[in-house]
Parts: sequence; structure tokens; C-alpha cells
Amino acid sequence: MKQHYSVVVVGGGQAGLSMSYNLKERGFDHIVFEKNRIGYSWRSKRWDSFCLVTPNWQCKLSGYHYPGDDPHGFMQKDEIVKYIEDYAASFDPPLKEGVEVLKVQKSNSQGVFELSTSIGDYTADQVVIAAGNYHIPKVPKMAERLPENILQLHSSEYKNPQSLPAKAVLVVGTGQSGCQIAEDLHLTGKKVHLCVGGAPRSPRMYRGKDAVDWLEQMGYYDLPIDEHPQKEKVRTNANHYVTGRDSGREIDLRRFALEGMQLYGALKNVSGGNLEFRNNLKQNLDRADAVAESIKKTIDGFIEKHKIQAPTEPAYEPVWEPEEEVLKLDYEKANIGAVVWCTGYQSDFSWVEIPVFDGKGYPGHDRGVTGVWGLYFLGLPWLYTWGSGRFSGIARDASYLADCIVAKKRVLHRNRSSIVNEVALGS
Ligand SMILES: Cc1cc2nc3c(=O)[nH]c(=O)nc-3n(C[C@H](O)[C@H](O)[C@H](O)COP(=O)(O)OP(=O)(O)OC[C@H]3O[C@@H](n4cnc5c(N)ncnc54)[C@H](O)[C@@H]3O)c2cc1C
Repeated sequence: MKQHYSVVVVGGGQAGLSMSYNLKERGFDHIVFEKNRIGYSWRSKRWDSFCLVTPNWQCKLSGYHYPGDDPHGFMQKDEIVKYIEDYAASFDPPLKEGVEVLKVQKSNSQGVFELSTSIGDYTADQVVIAAGNYHIPKVPKMAERLPENILQLHSSEYKNPQSLPAKAVLVVGTGQSGCQIAEDLHLTGKKVHLCVGGAPRSPRMYRGKDAVDWLEQMGYYDLPIDEHPQKEKVRTNANHYVTGRDSGREIDLRRFALEGMQLYGALKNVSGGNLEFRNNLKQNLDRADAVAESIKKTIDGFIEKHKIQAPTEPAYEPVWEPEEEVLKLDYEKANIGAVVWCTGYQSDFSWVEIPVFDGKGYPGHDRGVTGVWGLYFLGLPWLYTWGSGRFSGIARDASYLADCIVAKKRVLHRNRSSIVNEVALGS
């Protein structure tokens, strides 16, 4: 006999733990399978100086809001891991660590889910996939044309400047990770060459408050995806770059350039000993600034509409402009000893062998509820709101799914009782 649970939750990050909290609160028998240890992604896939970009007050896991005395600060990596561990200790979830779910199947729409795991097979009435979204590092094929004496690593493997060769570093990509890693290297005096992509920039403090505080006050974090102007397209947008480092500040790549960082457009090719760049550095810097300015304008509009007293700020002036675009760099002459690919991740749900995915492997769902009875996803970016793939919105999503799970259990219970009655009556 396979062991059976009403609900199996796959993943013991903040999403899986929040799900467990909500199921436990509703008295629901379940198990959480975590293939590593809880908080694994924060512990193992972030660099040493990593800190949150979102303020601590947004860490509001179900039943366990940020307990520290710095709500407007930004927890560092070890504090984030501790926050997750303390969360688990606060409600003692039914958790099995070191267990990988290798396959999830469902034989027919009436049947139970069948799960193969690294410790054996299980069945479940309902399954929540809370396995994160950042599974496979995305590295462009051109990487294979770089010589072996250049160390290559993905942002998820980068730890600190000291662990790289004592040479210049090429950082590819300017999403949150790329900008923060480039800064980490730059601050220790390393020569950094940075390929600037199309990610937008966010202001940090504006008119007396963190931009996140303004957006919260404006209700942005409650905006459901179906009311967002971009609808589902917003899910694939790059995150705005800004940092929580040193109590939080803006990242202005132009300032880095003034201080000696070498900026280029997006990396186009690796060929004949050269790195080749697109002719889009100016355009990418201008666009990132335009987004930051448009966020400020929206905040200005809100302040004006609600007649809020807030200090004013001088308009942003670019501190540096590229004189002419450099389109080629000989990596040997530039003494490049390492490349950090900050080029994002791909999700991999290939082990969920149930036909709910689109051509790109993204599950079809409405607020995490898929078209297959009893199968849910949790923790995906913009699953429902901006905070769905972050600390801030996971409690709301987990609570919603727990209510759906309870409702389905009632239906299941009714169906099973009527079958038992029919059998008992001999029909
Ligand atoms: C670089 C970076 C910076 C970020 N910064 C912020 C920030 O400042 N603020 C913020 O709110 N959010 C931030 N996020 C987003 C988000 O909060 C994190 O990605 C967070 O880790 C998501 O939590 P999760 O529980 O959904 O996924 P994860 O933390 O990835 O947890 C999923 C768990 O599932 C386990 N798992 C996966 N597959 C299986 C399987 N088959 N069987 C069993 N277990 C499995 C994994 O081991 C993992 O522990 C950031 C993300 C990244 C990548």
C-alpha cells in the first residue's frame, strides 16, 4: 500500500511553508516534501553580500510577520534564512526534508495523484506545487565559445569577489542580480565590464519615503493580474533594479561608469577572441531611467491628488552619457578572467506529468488553481499579484488555495459518502 495524504505540498521554501501553515490552521492532514533543506534557495543560490531588495515590513508570511526592529531595512542573506527557519519552528509543519518528488501523475480525472519520490511512492487527493520558479540557469549558447581559462559561472553560483581570479570580470545582464553582483565586484575595486540589457530601474527613496511604501499606499500591491494593463504579459517582465545594500539605495549604472566601470550594450556574440555588443547601451540606459522617472511621476500624481505633504526633489540629471558605443572587446587584452552570467532562469516542471502546461512549460491556472481537479501552483511571479512570487503576497495566495482545497475536500467527501451508500444499498 502506498502511503496516502489528503494534500502533498512539493517544496519547502516560503511558498510551501505558507501553504502548510494555512492547511494546518484548517486542520488538514498533509505533508511537505523538500528535496534539500527549508530555505534552500536563499541559503544556497544567493551570493554572500545578498540582501533583500524589498523592505523587511513586506516579509509577512502567514502567521509570521517580520519580527525584527528594522521594518524599513533589508535583511541580509543569513537573516532571511533565519526568518524562514524561525517561521517553520513557529508552527512545526509536517515536513520531510531531503525528499525529492520525481514524478507527479494522475491516472484519470476522478483518481488520486500518484507521486514518485526519492523515498518511495505516495498518493494524494490534492497536490500543491510550491517548488519555486527559478530552476535552470539560463546561459546563452555563445558561452561555449569562451576559452577554458576564463571562469564562467551563473549568478546562482556567484559567492564573492575573492572567489574569482584576480583579473577583470565581465558581468552579463542588468536585472536585479546583474546590477547587484556588478556593484559587489566594483566596490572591492575589481575592474568590471558590464553588458547592459533592457531591465528597468526603480527609484529607492523618493519624496521622503521608499518607493515601495508609496506603491503600497497607492494600492499597487493589491492589483490583481487581470486588472494589470499588461495582463499575463507582466509575468515575464524583468524586475526593476535597485538595491537594499547599506540600508537601501538606488543603482545608477551611469555613476558606476563615472567611477570606472566599463559599460556596453547587450552581449551579441563571442567570436574570434572578441566579445561583440549590440549598439544599444544609450537606449537601454535611457529606457531604464525613463521607467524610474515614470514611477516618480505616478507617485507625484498620487501625492497631488491626495494633497499629501511631502518634500519635493530635483529632477533626475544623468551623470554620464556614453560618448560612442564600444561594440567589440578583445577579452584577452581586457584581461578578463571570469564571466558572471546574470541572464536569468528557466522553470522546469517536467516532472509534473499532467497536461496543464503551455508550449513554454508554464502551467495554465487561475490564481494557482489549474484545470486539473486538485492540482495547484503557488509562488510563481504574478500568480495573482506583484507579491505572489515574493515574500509580500504569498500569505494571501496560500490562504486562497487552502480555502479551495477545503472546498474540494468537502465535494470529495460527499462523492465518496454517496458511493459508500450506493454500495451499502447494493446498487
Ligand atoms: C536573486 C533573487 C532575488 C530575490 N529577491 C527578492 C526580494 O528582495 N524580496 C522578495 O520578496 N523576493 C525576492 N525574490 C523572489 C522570491 O522571494 C524567491 O525566489 C523565493 O525563494 C521564492 O520562494 P518559493 O518558496 O516560491 O521558492 P524557493 O525558495 O525556490 O523554494 C522552492 C523549494 O522547492 C524545493 N523543490 C524544488 N523541486 C522540488 C521537488 N521536485 N521535490 C521536492 N522539493 C523540491 C527546492 O529545493 C526549494 O527549497 C528573489 C529571487 C531571486 C532569484
